[in-house]
Amino acid sequence: MDGAALHRSISCSPLACNRFLFSSPKLAPSFLPKSSVVAARRHHRLSNGSLSCRGLRRFSRLSAAPQSSSLRFGSRHFSSLSTRAVASPPTQPSPEIAGVQDEVAEKLGFEKVSEQFIGECKSKAVLFKHKKTGAEVMSVSNEDENKVFGIVFRTPPKDSTGIPHILEHSVLCGSRKYPLKEPFVELLKGSLHTFLNAFTYPDRTCYPVASTNTKDFYNLVDVYLDAVFFPKCIEDFQTFQQEGWHYELNNPSEDITYKGVVFNEMKGVYSQPDNILGRTAQQALFPDNTYGVDSGGDPNVIPNLTFEEFKEFHRKYYHPSNARIWFYGDDDPNERLRILSEYLNLFNESTAPEESKIAPQKLFSEPVRIVEKYPVGEGGDLKKRHMVCLNWLLSDKPLDLQTELELGFLDYLLLGTPASPLRKALLESGLGDAIVGGGIEDGLLQPQFSIGLKGVSEDDIQKVEELIMSTLEKLSAEGFDKYAVEASINTIEFSLRENNTGSFPRGLSLMLRSISKWIYDMDPFEPLKYEKPLMALKAKIAEEGSKAVFSPLIEKFILNNPHRVTIEMQPDPEKASCDEATEKEILEKVKASMTDEDLAELARATEELKLKQETPDPPEALRTVPSLSLHDIPKEPIQVPTEVGDISGVKVLQHDLFTNDVLYSEVVFDMSSLKQELLPLVPLFCQSLLEMGTKDLTFVQLNQLIGRKTGGISVYPFTSSMRGKENPCSQIIVRGKSMAGNAEDLFNLMNCVLQEVQFTDQQRFKQFVSQSKARMENRLRGSGHGIAAARMDAKLNVAGWISEQMGGISYLEFLQALEEKVDNNWNEISSSLEEIRKSLLSRKGCLVNMTGDGKTLANTEKFISKFLDLLPSHSPVETAIWNALLPSNSEAIVIPTQVNYVGRAANLYDTGYQLDGSAYVISKHISNTWLWDRVRVSGGAYGGFCDFDTHSGVFSFLSYRDPNLLKTLDVYNATGDFLRELEMDDDTLTKAIIGTIGDVDAYQLPDAKGYSSLLRYLLGITEEERQRRREEILSTSLKDFKEFADVIDAVKGKGVSVAVASPDDVEAANKERSNFFEVKKAL
Ligand SMILES: [Zn+2]
Repeated sequence: MDGAALHRSISCSPLACNRFLFSSPKLAPSFLPKSSVVAARRHHRLSNGSLSCRGLRRFSRLSAAPQSSSLRFGSRHFSSLSTRAVASPPTQPSPEIAGVQDEVAEKLGFEKVSEQFIGECKSKAVLFKHKKTGAEVMSVSNEDENKVFGIVFRTPPKDSTGIPHILEHSVLCGSRKYPLKEPFVELLKGSLHTFLNAFTYPDRTCYPVASTNTKDFYNLVDVYLDAVFFPKCIEDFQTFQQEGWHYELNNPSEDITYKGVVFNEMKGVYSQPDNILGRTAQQALFPDNTYGVDSGGDPNVIPNLTFEEFKEFHRKYYHPSNARIWFYGDDDPNERLRILSEYLNLFNESTAPEESKIAPQKLFSEPVRIVEKYPVGEGGDLKKRHMVCLNWLLSDKPLDLQTELELGFLDYLLLGTPASPLRKALLESGLGDAIVGGGIEDGLLQPQFSIGLKGVSEDDIQKVEELIMSTLEKLSAEGFDKYAVEASINTIEFSLRENNTGSFPRGLSLMLRSISKWIYDMDPFEPLKYEKPLMALKAKIAEEGSKAVFSPLIEKFILNNPHRVTIEMQPDPEKASCDEATEKEILEKVKASMTDEDLAELARATEELKLKQETPDPPEALRTVPSLSLHDIPKEPIQVPTEVGDISGVKVLQHDLFTNDVLYSEVVFDMSSLKQELLPLVPLFCQSLLEMGTKDLTFVQLNQLIGRKTGGISVYPFTSSMRGKENPCSQIIVRGKSMAGNAEDLFNLMNCVLQEVQFTDQQRFKQFVSQSKARMENRLRGSGHGIAAARMDAKLNVAGWISEQMGGISYLEFLQALEEKVDNNWNEISSSLEEIRKSLLSRKGCLVNMTGDGKTLANTEKFISKFLDLLPSHSPVETAIWNALLPSNSEAIVIPTQVNYVGRAANLYDTGYQLDGSAYVISKHISNTWLWDRVRVSGGAYGGFCDFDTHSGVFSFLSYRDPNLLKTLDVYNATGDFLRELEMDDDTLTKAIIGTIGDVDAYQLPDAKGYSSLLRYLLGITEEERQRRREEILSTSLKDFKEFADVIDAVKGKGVSVAVASPDDVEAANKERSNFFEVKKAL
């Protein structure tokens, strides 16, 4: 099998990993570049599922991704090639898509408002109104088996206490029909969901689920409906305390601390400079309406929230009258209404829709300037670490879709690719390291535009502002390059037709798009229909020229718009400790104000809460959560059609799958002959291939050519251990996609990128280095667990060591040194890049992977043959020896933060353990029970989980935004005992098995299927092995859990620990446990 492992490794696309990094891309591609999602300020419920893709394990392509992920809202999906990626549309339209019988709807209490066929997604969509409550329901029917349900409430907050966010967490902690601690976690454990999460936006809260199994789907829907309408949390103060905030006092003689999952999650968010910038900008742009406060919660304000306010918020807004409900997929539309009516009929109409209306922000008559501080570590040149960002509110009301589409194109033209003029001007100016601000953001009532730079010198702030304005003025006066316009049209059109939502269900992407207008009482159908506005725009460009379209937009919405907020962010090395001191002071005052009786009572309440958290749910409560049985589970793994052939002496894998006329292809080169010292240069080598240009083409021209002819090309390293082999698998993968008719262009361009690009542009290379450095620093703050995981891996196996060289702390250190070297020793770097190319490019050790329909595959063979014939045929010099590991000491990477990331890992294969499928079930169970309960629920961390890399044998524990350090390590060390004492009834075991199969069988769009099959081929995983692992998973018993206890004790005994943590916590830990951690400063 290894579906799970592969699933995990490939889900580490920028897209997936960023799901819980607030500083990053929106989830769903949409035809308007950013509609649907306001990623930066949205808060996700964290599921172990999403966390287990840890970004760094086989992450390296993140650092080599063609687009900068430093944009606040995102790598633009138009040109991004997510590895999970792509898809066929919900197959062919069916003339007889099941329809709702109007009389059935009527009988169930619904009236039909409107019905439309949406050609763009080949779906029939019907809008209903629930007569008694006014609840609106969009019922979308098509042939997509990946069914989606979502319920969305308008939840505008009045202050920054984080009510909507805390409520989002809390309603999933038990309900009327499902009276257990966390039904959400039970669903994570034991369902076949393809999506399960909840999001808080600045003005709405959204609860989506998805599954391909109809029975499972309706189970999920019922649990979610019961949760939002009848949650236990509104009567249970302890849930409010646990998810929101509470004072913790273990012993009257100790200090009082704040605890709470959201409290800690937001402390993490408030530790990240990009998030501070995004929030400051939003609040300054909207001083007068609900967007002027933080729906996620400001850690300084969260403790003002009372239980009464919390309950009242639920009563007011979580009401059918204030709900918008979405169904999508191939299930029976009558059944949807039947399920809903059971809930909705219990309510009467309320005034919520009036009370939850979002008032628009009036436009300023004068620009505003704001200076804000953000925390940095001590040392380093603080002068060069300022940020500056210009933000505009574009309009005093929502825009029509045509204008939004035009602004989306404008955004892509300005910033979408490295060759886009505004982005290029900023990065080439040398005034800063990386872009901040996400361009156009249209997920809220009124659209915004923001752009700026970080890593700016104090003296250059003014210059950055002037450069932004003058570049926009110039573009408005001169218009855009003809080829740039052509490339952007092709790229956007390709993306729309490909409709590649990656690991994200298509129906969810559509829902978020529709909701982004529907939530403001606008037409929910319109956002789904892109053909007409797209054609209109293309015609306008063809008739009047692009300048006539885009120049007025730049002038009206940006240059002549006085509603501009300039944010300057200053680095403050004292800020983190200051904030901590303030918090301590407040808590000391609280304690001083308490009598001895109060303190005793608080200690008792603390203990009571802990006890409750640690007491498992009774079996009868657990049984209320509906689940499938093992009979519902297919006995065989999902097969991907694969034919292994040969073209010009090179192995070619072909996957005959329906892809709606798109060809996906990967060309893989063996990296194993690369000299060790060249490894850290590989990510920059990959970026150079795509962004340096050739003798005949500037990089801008090359980039435009790729945009005009293909759906995108990316180049990145892939590294993994191989089970039972000493040498790791290490490759460079070149990925590309195009319409079938452009296959020849695709391979010509791949050849051009690989063979003709010249490594001569010193200035551009220097930018790559500073961008990469900025990105690594960002990752260190935002996903320290990934950095810690990579570091531990590097101490335990060679593949991990290689990855760390190309994306961990070692890589950051390499970049820091490289920055100087580019100035002093460019020739050496340039020839090293050439040397990497020489050592990689050879027909020997090359492999081609193709996914498309049979006809496309057959037609493409001749282009592949030509491509391969152009490759050098020399054999690579012998395999290089990379016998490097990092020392196996325990390390603390110290950064300015208020939360920690704590890891511990060991290689289980070193202890003689032989892989058995049960290990997948067991490690998932450990994450979902032991670690969830101890690290998250009672520990107060945002997340805690474990990961078993079955290729290397490395088993790691990790925590995420954790207030603790040593305490968390103690929890990890007690895992063996947890397993030894584990009691488990058959139901629970079955759920654990089904949940594991759900991971293994994760829903994949066709290109992702082809890609997974390629990775299995590279890692030597056979179909027989997949079948065997599946059988082992299905027959996992309690005995396996108990036996695993001794195996996992190796992590306690022989493991290494790495924490990314705050200086104070590390100091305290080293005092308590005589210098347990070796300290390393990173920022
Ligand atoms: Zn949250």
